[in-house]
Amino acid sequence: MNKPLILVVEDDSAVRNLIATTLETHGYRFQTAPTGESAILEAVSHNPDVILLDLGLPDMDGIEIIHKIRSWSKTPIIVISARSEDTDKIDALDAGADDYLTKPFSVEELLARLRVTFRRLHDVGDSVQDAVYTNGDLKIDYAAGCAFMKEQELHLTPIEYKLLCLLAKNAGKVLTHTYITRE
Ligand code: CA
Repeated sequence: MNKPLILVVEDDSAVRNLIATTLETHGYRFQTAPTGESAILEAVSHNPDVILLDLGLPDMDGIEIIHKIRSWSKTPIIVISARSEDTDKIDALDAGADDYLTKPFSVEELLARLRVTFRRLHDVGDSVQDAVYTNGDLKIDYAAGCAFMKEQELHLTPIEYKLLCLLAKNAGKVLTHTYITRE
């Protein structure tokens, strides 16, 4: 499996660099965005595995960013907020964030939160892999490696089958060329 990609959204360059260095040291791939606008752009074009989102950004409200991302993506979002933004933190969770870190946080805590998030992602992935996927008339039997439409087996090339599985896994999401090629 590819190393997970983390999008770090933080306008404070000192905090951003600290997170970036931590991720780099621990073998994560990452991208950074200093504003809300660039965060959404990065999220759309690179489909990260996890988003670390500072709520206090110069150009856009953090909650608004969560709403925007949630309109097309289920990517886990870990909110980073200062203590003074406690009510925002609750709003963020209600808007669809998965977890939060309060500033100042320790590097160890950040890594622990990431491990929990990846474990959750992995558990979901495992149960999906074991199951038979159905969506309307489409059925994919992962164990047998075949797909059916209205009970009729589909004759797919290996690439077509892989593409179908990838799309099924991400049903409801918009996938970019870059993401599909990478996977
Ligand atoms: Ca900030």
